[in-house]
Amino acid sequence: KQWVYRFSEGKKEQKMLLGGKGANLAEMTNLGLPIPPGFTITTESCIHYFDEGRTLWPALHQQIDSALVDLENAVGKSFHDPANPLLVSVRSGAAFSMPGMMDTILNLGLNDASVAGLAEQTQNPTFAFDSYRRFIQMFADVVKSVPRIHFEAILDTVKNENGYEFDNQLTLEDLTDLVAQYKAVYQRETGETFPQEPLEQLHQAVQAVFSSWNNERAVLYREIHNISHNLGTAVTVQSMVFGNRGNDSGTGVAFTRNPATGEKKLFGEFLMNAQGEDVVAGIRTPLDIDTLEEVMPAVYNEFKAIAEKLEDHYADMQDIEFTIEKGKLYLLQTRNGKRTAAAAVAVAVDLADEGLITKEEAVMRIETGQLDQLLHPTFDTKALDEAALLATGLGASPGAASGHIFFSTADAEAAQKDGLPVILVRRETSPEDLAGMMSSEGILTARGGMTSHAAVVARGLGKCCVAGCTAAVIDEENKTVVIDDVTLHQGDLLSIDGASGRVYAGTIAKQNPTLGGKFSTFMDWVNEMKVLQVKANADSPTDVKQALSLGAEGVGLCRTEHMFFHKDRIPVVRQMILSRTLDERKKYLAELLGMQRQDFQEMFALLQDRPMTVRLLDPPLHEFLPTADADKVALAEAMGSSLAGLEAHIDSLHEVNPMLGHRGCRLAVTYPEIYRMQARAIIEGAIIAAEETGSTITPEIMIPLVCDADELRYVKAEIVAEIEEVFAEKAVTIPYLIGTMIEIPRAAVTSDEIALEADFFSFGTNDMTQMGFGFSRDDAGKFLQEYEDKGLLKPNPFHSLDVKGIGKLVKLSAKLGRETNPGLVLGVCGEHGGDPESIAFFSSVGLDYVSCSPYRVPIARLASAQVAI
Ligand code: ADP
Ligand code: MG
Ligand code: MG
Repeated sequence: KQWVYRFSEGKKEQKMLLGGKGANLAEMTNLGLPIPPGFTITTESCIHYFDEGRTLWPALHQQIDSALVDLENAVGKSFHDPANPLLVSVRSGAAFSMPGMMDTILNLGLNDASVAGLAEQTQNPTFAFDSYRRFIQMFADVVKSVPRIHFEAILDTVKNENGYEFDNQLTLEDLTDLVAQYKAVYQRETGETFPQEPLEQLHQAVQAVFSSWNNERAVLYREIHNISHNLGTAVTVQSMVFGNRGNDSGTGVAFTRNPATGEKKLFGEFLMNAQGEDVVAGIRTPLDIDTLEEVMPAVYNEFKAIAEKLEDHYADMQDIEFTIEKGKLYLLQTRNGKRTAAAAVAVAVDLADEGLITKEEAVMRIETGQLDQLLHPTFDTKALDEAALLATGLGASPGAASGHIFFSTADAEAAQKDGLPVILVRRETSPEDLAGMMSSEGILTARGGMTSHAAVVARGLGKCCVAGCTAAVIDEENKTVVIDDVTLHQGDLLSIDGASGRVYAGTIAKQNPTLGGKFSTFMDWVNEMKVLQVKANADSPTDVKQALSLGAEGVGLCRTEHMFFHKDRIPVVRQMILSRTLDERKKYLAELLGMQRQDFQEMFALLQDRPMTVRLLDPPLHEFLPTADADKVALAEAMGSSLAGLEAHIDSLHEVNPMLGHRGCRLAVTYPEIYRMQARAIIEGAIIAAEETGSTITPEIMIPLVCDADELRYVKAEIVAEIEEVFAEKAVTIPYLIGTMIEIPRAAVTSDEIALEADFFSFGTNDMTQMGFGFSRDDAGKFLQEYEDKGLLKPNPFHSLDVKGIGKLVKLSAKLGRETNPGLVLGVCGEHGGDPESIAFFSSVGLDYVSCSPYRVPIARLASAQVAI
């Protein structure tokens, strides 16, 4: 079995086997780009390593040895020749990029003899010892888990004693001294001397990279991003090139487009005389990539040309790592760049316009979850004018966040558990901070640039981040941050704007995002491709406006009980419910009629010829009744009855299991006058709106909780009679439809009969899940967590439709319904209507539309287009 692939043997399609890094290094090698030679040990080896009790096996040893010989020949250096030493990096690389999650070791191969050889050979002993001290620290950290703080403390002491600001001010004496001290730390912490044999160093490093697949932060990252734990990481061994050889050397990272906005322009940073992680770790604040054009014009132009070539080749925005050694450019990595949702949309649209991808590919490139991010609010512009600006850093990941400041992952997590919105404030972040970042609304760092750990991870998580806010002096020990003359303590309120990089005191009001430009173009393409109609659930004119602005094609569910709960109306509703006689009830219903008609009229006028489905009253009546004593007293007074009498009446309406009680159309069987009032309000509202707007309005009246065709027939006849009365009174008629919800299993299996009485079905999948499983929606949370922990019933059937069971009911009902009523319109309302996976199912069984909450509409539209492509 082949465990090891030379760069010349791989290609970009082999990400699963070689990891993203290894596959792309192979691809770039074969494109003829300047890549330091190397080889990749496969992800299968990593899995095998865990299966084999965590040791390397003979076949792997042999293949590594043979690849090493080729590598030594290719670069003309050797592991066994201290005068001309081969140095390599040992790099992790999983199939899906996990930035900062796994560990990389640089300068491997150095030892006490070869460091002298390297010094002699390069005539640059400072560089040689700088490389050695870095290697000892990385090896100790990655392979032996020696805390970095031990080394950093020593380094800080040396820098402080000499008054240095930066690492590259260290002299040869400092560095030789550091190497000695580092080796002593290594010995003290591990009980072993620092390994001198390069092959031994390599074997240990390979094992450490394999093991890092299962370190805590890697496991957490995979859980958050839904990546399988069984893939393993590849290990890439690559000959070193050196950005720390002096001022004609350097290292950097650049994106081919702006990862925050999508703008087509090189975006990145570099540092001269630096190695590897120096840029990403935010140790010195790096220079903008544009400056490279002044510092080294030829290298800049070569890099720019390669960047364009790579973007064309991969047909996507690239994130490229490079190093310059003595004026010569090398590429060390390329991958599809992580980007914000806004940038993702902009880049997809631009790439399609540039002809690199098709419109369909552009639509497939955006994950439905990313759109969610785009719809997040920003700070209210007026509130911003009044806010106290403290400082400005780099707008590293857009979004607006206000919260209480905390200085460590542990404190941030604890505060979030207590329900506080958190802003994580750190000098810089490292992979250990992932959990803290997850717990925060936003992240503020004092150090680091646009490609720092904080910036990259925040963009990936869709969290707002301001990085490199140098004005903020952060004391993580004492939990304070000082900005000019303002001192903030743990728990104080702070607001950050991840687009502008501004930092404000206190909290700031927010507003909904305005979506235009590339987003509209993108959504236009989505609309061209999607098949399912997407409507919104909306209960008020305000909801309707929001739904329309998010592209809803109508209202699929207007819940009338929400109109009843309005504070001015609830007293009338209560009097109506507690009426002793039909006449009394009709009197109150007449009052409610005017109010409901007004709502419907406004909503129909906003929608014009777009459809609206209105569901008649569904919840049990006692939900509307007062519980507070003061309310009861007031009600008794208004109704002229005694408090005791009123309480007895309320008690008599109490139900043990209201979810299965006197609700939905069952109410209308007892009190037809309630539904008649609602039907009248809908039709009258529609007539007025039609006259006002000149549109043809076709109200859709929906009867909930039907379980039987005769029941529906009875309720429908009452409604139709009322509508005929309205038409006669007004001497006008308008078209209308009457349909039903299918949410009770019995209704689903008798749909052939029910469809004879219905113009449309709307699947109420929330109730259908509740009744199909026999899980109370309001109580299931408690025990479904157990199910989830034990791997039962995944995913939660209230979040994503249970295709196997409830889905079967939907499918059967659709089939039976259309058999007897071929024109039957079929839709879904409820949470599942906004869930991409459920949408794929609904589309596959031939439904006509889904309806979901307004802010899920763009997501549902995208999901609907993606299943159609
Ligand atoms: P990560 O996955 O965390 O980005 P990498 O394997 O890309 O880790 O390594 C981190 C950095 O180390 C790279 O960006 C690069 O600057 C440096 N590096 C890795 N391999 C080499 C090499 N062969 N020569 C010089 N620098 C290297
Ligand atoms: Mg990298
Ligand atoms: Mg229901």
